[in-house]
Amino acid sequence: MSRVNTVLGAIPAEELGIVAIHEHVGYGMPGSELDTRWWKTPEERYAETVPKLRQFHEYGGGTFVDVTGICNGRDVDYYKSLSAKTGVHIVACTGFVGGDTALAFFARASVDYLAQHFTHEITVGIGDTGSKAGVIKVGVSRGGRMTDLDKRIYRAAARAALRTGVPILTHLAIDAENAIAIFAEEGLPLDRVLFGHVDDGVNADKTRDVWIAEQGGRIGFDTFGYETELPDPPFWARPRKERLDHFLRFIGGEGRLRQVLASADANCSPLGWPGVKGHTVNYIFEDLIPDLRDAGLDEDTIRTVFVDNPADFLTIRR
Ligand SMILES: [Zn+2]
Repeated sequence: MSRVNTVLGAIPAEELGIVAIHEHVGYGMPGSELDTRWWKTPEERYAETVPKLRQFHEYGGGTFVDVTGICNGRDVDYYKSLSAKTGVHIVACTGFVGGDTALAFFARASVDYLAQHFTHEITVGIGDTGSKAGVIKVGVSRGGRMTDLDKRIYRAAARAALRTGVPILTHLAIDAENAIAIFAEEGLPLDRVLFGHVDDGVNADKTRDVWIAEQGGRIGFDTFGYETELPDPPFWARPRKERLDHFLRFIGGEGRLRQVLASADANCSPLGWPGVKGHTVNYIFEDLIPDLRDAGLDEDTIRTVFVDNPADFLTIRR
């Protein structure tokens, strides 16, 4: 049977429902928890997060995939309580957002160590939480090119993905030639990899989304809602229509609908930074799905993007 690891245990992929494939309960740079200005009490974190997840559930959202890597504020016991209270399935990740967010202990580790660590978090559990990771996060460090550490993490992730059957999500899809070469060397089929953030305002022009799809990779339009129209847009914002047109153009290509996933990359309660006002995971229901309907997409197509493709991607492949 098809299974997916959530923080409250493995469930059949058919039960995931509508999936937000790239989100954050709370993301912060390593060390932000040490700056007393930015401490949030548990009460504050719950108060910011629970209403967003309840709203997500009310809109018909089924599963929230948290891709906050090790060292960036990942907090699995907290996710378990959020999931139990709101009814939203939460999938947690192992891995790192990028080499540049891995603390020194991990940054100096070998590929073997990292692969074993990821495998342990997927098959045994994350710390003593009893929860198993359902995806592996990797990414490209700031600077536009994969660093040596990024490459070690990608290689370790490929090995853990092959051993466990859990898929990989990437932060950024720039410098994809290097990533794809590593996955090929390790023998990992590219439909086990979601190349994320092809749509962000900084990197969209530099990202070879069509080429990656032609190689067999899955494509993440997963920064929906970071718009230049926001009152205080972040540097990776993009005009709303430009991103939507990019997405529609992409899925217009032969066979590409099956390769695409979409999400909002929002923070329920950001850690160590103010976050982006006016942007939540619920952009998917309040703006994106209505925009897709207005653009003429039918309900089957919308279901493919938000239900069928994520279920196929997240299913542990034996
Ligand atoms: Zn993210």
